[in-house]
Amino acid sequence: MALEKTLSIIKPDAVEKNVIGKVLSRFEDAGLKISAMRFALLSKDDAAGFYAVHKDRPFFNDLVEFMTSGPVCIQVLEGEDAIKKNRDLMGATDPTKADKGTIRADFAVSIDANAVHGSDSEENAAIEIAYFFPSMNVYAR
Ligand code: ADP
Ligand code: MG
Repeated sequence: MALEKTLSIIKPDAVEKNVIGKVLSRFEDAGLKISAMRFALLSKDDAAGFYAVHKDRPFFNDLVEFMTSGPVCIQVLEGEDAIKKNRDLMGATDPTKADKGTIRADFAVSIDANAVHGSDSEENAAIEIAYFFPSMNVYAR
């Protein structure tokens, strides 16, 4: 195991449901530390740039539409094995298939409005963190 950082986004549906604190508690209770955090109302270009890897997928336009539909709350999470730990806390992309007790099973309603984003690899975590946070805004332990 290695000390890692990962990018997390509490998506517009979960912000609207007023469960930011509940989601953050899941991270903290699992031993992850919040190293940076900000709100943002993403423009279409911001969201399209962030999800550029998915630009040829059929759901891309819906994804950009959804991610710009309201404010998001973006965090850097840090801890041992943080990338996988966060993916495990999140649950499957489709909340109807997510394991009981995961964030998506408990707070999400559909594959579009699925409450949270989490980086899927060390390489993408570094790219995604840099996309939203200048290094001076990431708490260095
Ligand atoms: P994850 O967020 O679990 O890493 P992906 O990276 O595959 O999932 O997809 C990014 C986001 O795009 C998902 O969180 C979801 O909101 C949306 N998405 C993925 N697959 C579909 C799909 N088949 N239909 C609609 N939206 C999708
Ligand atoms: Mg993904």
